[in-house]
Amino acid sequence: MNRPAATPHRCVVCGSGDAMTIWSVAHAPMHAVRPAGMTDAAGGFGRLDIAACRSCGHLSNRAFDIDAADELYGALVLTNEPVSPGMIAAVDETAALIMRYLKPDPTVLEVGGGGGALSLAMARRSARVDLVEPSRALQPERFAGTGVTLHRAMFPVPALAGRRFDAVVCRQVIEHVPDPAPFLAALRASLADDGVAYIELPSADDILRRHSIVDFHYPHVHYYRRAEMELLLTRAGFGVAEVFDIKQGHDMGFLLRAAEPQSRQIRTPSDISASEFAAALAERRARGARRLAAIDGLIALYGANAYAQALLGLYQDSTPFAAVFDDTASYAGRCVYGPAGEIAIEPPRGERLAGMAAIVIAAYLHDVEIARKIAAMGFRGPVYTLRAHDVKGLGPDAASPIASLFDP
Ligand SMILES: [Zn+2]
Repeated sequence: MNRPAATPHRCVVCGSGDAMTIWSVAHAPMHAVRPAGMTDAAGGFGRLDIAACRSCGHLSNRAFDIDAADELYGALVLTNEPVSPGMIAAVDETAALIMRYLKPDPTVLEVGGGGGALSLAMARRSARVDLVEPSRALQPERFAGTGVTLHRAMFPVPALAGRRFDAVVCRQVIEHVPDPAPFLAALRASLADDGVAYIELPSADDILRRHSIVDFHYPHVHYYRRAEMELLLTRAGFGVAEVFDIKQGHDMGFLLRAAEPQSRQIRTPSDISASEFAAALAERRARGARRLAAIDGLIALYGANAYAQALLGLYQDSTPFAAVFDDTASYAGRCVYGPAGEIAIEPPRGERLAGMAAIVIAAYLHDVEIARKIAAMGFRGPVYTLRAHDVKGLGPDAASPIASLFDP
């Protein structure tokens, strides 16, 4: 990746150097999952100092360690592998959505493809797919005979310089990139004149709407609202053809075509009150702590993901989480961790669930599916989700409703 040209404290959207902290966590785990029993168990923490730009409202982590970024993304363990029918269907849907806009047998570049599920899905209907992904956990053998060529590196990669693709796909990456402008320019340079790009990222509008405190986690440097990302895309030479709401607005997907770069400035100033937002987040943090303290007995997390990572950074000092369940088979021998130490990840089993006083579903985007599964395994205790708001009616049945850990 290019080294950022901008200083980290300058707003990447409007250039202002003036920002106000709205959320902070002293010991945030850098990784959602890591091998158990690491010798340097005290390492692997960073600080969250999420600040709102006083000029445009853009949210970013001022304490993100830019020099550690390459190592962060090359290291350790792949996350977000689709493990449930719902997650696998979502990958197929995304592939179908992008393919609708492409000519037959396109050439495809995917940047930051994680385990490669989307690349593999697209390769079935493409001339070839080049996948750029820095994780050293990704095994090239997985792609043998699939039409996917793996480049295990940070983007841009020299091997692809000058190549232009019918489709450029970049999902859940741009929020990790400290300086987005050169990264977007490199994506744009990889796109054929009549090509289509698809960029997907979490929506800061959604965090602002739902006050979702677990959506602040260490690997995300930036939190973009739709208008901010549209501006950056326009400046990089992308024309926005369509914008999709994904996962009920948690994420947003931009379907883009090649255009001339335009040097626009943001038109609307910040519409959020940073101090009111900060107060609302603090209130939720305190409410979550009270809920956890009121549980009498062992508490398990379900889902070894970014939201569990955020939760451990917030509460593990005061709450001794007893177990972490996850359906990802490759997590055997791995753990989640926080300021009070590591917790081995285990597959869910009825007899282990039965020993728990309460389960907190960290994989909150799949909470209904997971709650049904837990109920089917015989668990009858209280089930909480990290989903903020809109929880009513989510229970799999009247006997085992899901409650939000943070809502009143
Ligand atoms: Zn700004």
